[in-house]
Amino acid sequence: MSIQRRKTKVVKIGNVCIGGRHPVAVQGMTKTPTADIQSTLRQISELQAAGAEIVRLAVEGPEDARALRSIKQSSPLPLVADIHFNWRLAIAAIESGVDKIRLNPGNIYRSREVSDIARAAKSARIPIRVGLNSGSVRSRAAGKSAQSKGLIALMAESALRYIRLLEKNAFYDIVVSLKASGIPDTLAAYRRMSRLCDYPFHLGLTATGPSSGGVVKSSIAIGALLLDGIGDTIRISLTDTPFEEIRVARDILEAVGARTFGPQIVSCPTCGRCGVDLVKIVNELSRKIAALPLKKKGPALRVAVMGCVVNGPGEAREADIGIAFGKGEGLIFKSGKPFKKVSAGASVEALLKEAQKIG
Ligand code: SF4
Repeated sequence: MSIQRRKTKVVKIGNVCIGGRHPVAVQGMTKTPTADIQSTLRQISELQAAGAEIVRLAVEGPEDARALRSIKQSSPLPLVADIHFNWRLAIAAIESGVDKIRLNPGNIYRSREVSDIARAAKSARIPIRVGLNSGSVRSRAAGKSAQSKGLIALMAESALRYIRLLEKNAFYDIVVSLKASGIPDTLAAYRRMSRLCDYPFHLGLTATGPSSGGVVKSSIAIGALLLDGIGDTIRISLTDTPFEEIRVARDILEAVGARTFGPQIVSCPTCGRCGVDLVKIVNELSRKIAALPLKKKGPALRVAVMGCVVNGPGEAREADIGIAFGKGEGLIFKSGKPFKKVSAGASVEALLKEAQKIG
């Protein structure tokens, strides 16, 4: 099943295009104080090595905004400045040369301030993300008649109002996000908004919690939206390292078939029939196969690693290369045909050798 992507405008963030038919971009966020230029640059390079394509930085004060200029000069990735409360920081970040800014309509909303930012972003030719989150929408609406509306309607209405404000300033280089911490609210907000505008979407959830639960929530919400064809860049938020966030983002994109980043390993969960240490074999294979030179075009290489001869041969036949283990040894399949037997100890090297020939 191929995903029918929502039709959107294309927005350029440095050298990365999002929206239209461009691949869904992987976005990360640094967790260092932005004013600490060396640590931030080191983390940006590590994020790039992990697979990030765009990086966002928190801009808390003038020293962060000033640091952006030096960071921009050496950053290998396009930079997004994350701004809250202080519209002057948005102007300072734009002047520092960032590639995009994120504004929160819940805390920067005065018409004159937004207009000034739009003018500065337009003259710097960079996009603005209208980055709503449910918490700030609720608190801004508190006490007003709008409060009687549901959260989703409030979020969509608030995003649209902000978009119209930017458009009134002839600003159309817009990306939208509507983050909530719950899955149903997040899905409903993005789906509703997808019917109301054709700007590209940045997908994410806020405050997902500790890592394992956060991975599950993010996978369900972002995976479901991507399968709907909604989403042009994703950022996974976890109470974990920034690199783990990138790993999960890439895994989600691969799982829904939106992108491939390297060879795909299909392996069984093992059970009482398994006669080898399959977990160890698969872990070693995953690590080593990721280091192989990757195919630039075409579908990713699919490698099946199965623990026994009950279900193993079927799965192994469907992959480019597969192995079905018996007691202490396995039968390798190549392009659907039995190829040769190897011992369990020699299986990883044998699979890597064949992977290199095909991939
Ligand atoms: S392939 Fe075999 S070992 Fe693996 S889970 Fe299925 S039956 Fe068990």
